[in-house]
Amino acid sequence: MDLFEAVKSSVTTRQAAEHYGIKVDRSGKACCIFHNDRHPSMKVDERYHCFSCGADGDVIDFAARLFGVGLREAAQRLAADFNIPHERACPSGARPVKPRRSLMQRLKTYQDENYRILCSYYHLLRQWDAEYAPKPEDEDWHPLYMEAIQNSAKVEYLLDELQDSTPDKAKELIALWKNEIGRYAGRVREVRAAERRGSYELSR
Ligand SMILES: [Zn+2]
Repeated sequence: MDLFEAVKSSVTTRQAAEHYGIKVDRSGKACCIFHNDRHPSMKVDERYHCFSCGADGDVIDFAARLFGVGLREAAQRLAADFNIPHERACPSGARPVKPRRSLMQRLKTYQDENYRILCSYYHLLRQWDAEYAPKPEDEDWHPLYMEAIQNSAKVEYLLDELQDSTPDKAKELIALWKNEIGRYAGRVREVRAAERRGSYELSR
């Protein structure tokens, strides 16, 4: 039962009036709180009705007027004061609770993140392979070129596998290659940091 229904079916206006210190006579009449009433002209029962000014309503309207608050706040106050159980609805305007992401969704995100790391690293390797390919006169191969030829095939393999696997299979694969992927992620970070500094001098 929602708050309003629960309050209205549990407490009468008369009970509320008496609880909040309004004098109710034996015939169920009180001085009206809606107009300047010297002789009791408001009947309080299940609802209330003033025979003088015509004010009329239920217990929640009554409490709202008595405390100068909105209907919801009045109902909450009545529920608290009379120990009325009710469903706790989200207050209007409150953000609904975000549903927890499913395990599958989280695994998929994990798969995508690792795939992105491998992609970034793979692009670097391709770039190094092209930029630092040795010329016939070079005595030593550039370390970044070495890195490219050493790791390209492995990274290509991992990209293929990750792309084609289900999220839970991907998780197993990532666990198996955790150290390598961690190292690749580190390399990507180093290159990005070097690029930001404006120096693209990297060593192995
Ligand atoms: Zn009145």
